[in-house]
Amino acid sequence: MANSHTVLLSAPDVGALEQEYVLAALRSGWVAPAGPDLDLFEQEIARRVGVPYAVAVSSGTAALHLALLGIGAGPGDVVVVPTMTFAATANAVVYTGATPVFADCEAATGNLDPELLSGLLAEGAPVRVVLTVDLFGCCADYERILPVCERYGVPVIEDAAEALGARHRGRPAGSFGRAATLSFNGNKIMTTSGGGMLLTADAALAGRARHLAGQARLPVAHYEHDEIGYNYRLSNLLAALGRAQLNRLDEMIERRRAVRDGYAKVFAHVDGVRLLGGDDPAANCWLTSIVVDPQRAGWQAGDLAAHLAARNVETRPIFKPMHLQPVFAGARTVVNGTAERLFRDGLLLPSGSALSDDQVRKVLDDVTQFLDGRR
Ligand SMILES: *Cc1c(COP(=O)(O)O)cnc(C)c1O
Repeated sequence: MANSHTVLLSAPDVGALEQEYVLAALRSGWVAPAGPDLDLFEQEIARRVGVPYAVAVSSGTAALHLALLGIGAGPGDVVVVPTMTFAATANAVVYTGATPVFADCEAATGNLDPELLSGLLAEGAPVRVVLTVDLFGCCADYERILPVCERYGVPVIEDAAEALGARHRGRPAGSFGRAATLSFNGNKIMTTSGGGMLLTADAALAGRARHLAGQARLPVAHYEHDEIGYNYRLSNLLAALGRAQLNRLDEMIERRRAVRDGYAKVFAHVDGVRLLGGDDPAANCWLTSIVVDPQRAGWQAGDLAAHLAARNVETRPIFKPMHLQPVFAGARTVVNGTAERLFRDGLLLPSGSALSDDQVRKVLDDVTQFLDGRR
């Protein structure tokens, strides 16, 4: 249980700049889901990611829902979803009436396996969309995934909820596919306390998303609606918080990278332990997970978790694969055991940019003590 002494996995990192921006927005009177901070937040994120259109919404899940609707996913459609992800990715597919098919991941990163994807599309299954996830801030292998999807004419939606600030071959996360989505949930690399963004180069898709996010109300004086819409808009106050966080994004990424480097050092010469995602210099280091081979290491991820929990250090297993979730029992799967092994052997370690030097040192000392006890 978390108490005030617990070292948390990924706590929000907000301070004076955030207070200044939110207070200014509050004093400006723009407390509705419209206003100058909202417009600027969209422009600033779009510029940062290098994508023409950005639509700010109330969550990453809402952004995924709108992206899927924008591509036309609906009842009878099949959407490929990586089984190694947070439930929101798959839930958004079900909101549209489409059906997720869960595909396994690569052991090195936990990201969608391009070979399995290629095999699945080659079967000729009528896949409407391929969703990719940039797990824990490390981009999926777009260099291999995009050509496969192109060959079969299947659009890609990039769930970049965890990856703002990361890159793949020089291109920013959030710029891949027909549309991409970000999350600004409280635990993410930057936060609006809750919020998300849809990014796309497709003007029509962006316009439709904006329309649906505002209850599909037409721009006339009276209340006129031409579709079933949603109340998915982001508050101007929260956009102000997001603008302050975006100013600090690079600094927060560097802090997370320093924390990750500390783990890399401690585990460098430990047989049977590796960092998920390796040392990809283009990752945003959102969350650092180790993967333990219990045979070689002589201990299990859960042993370290228990050792750290007893010392008020929060850890967590990595995502339980979607195909093992009760809610998705019976879904079609293309799996080979990789995601299941990562779930069994992975352990997420405290990774937040708000961790103090003392907290980082304490966690590394606790880990070292555990490792010394196992030698
Ligand atoms: C956090 C997250 C989401 C959902 O974002 P919310 O803003 O919490 O709705 C979706 N996909 C992935 C991979 C996430 O990590």
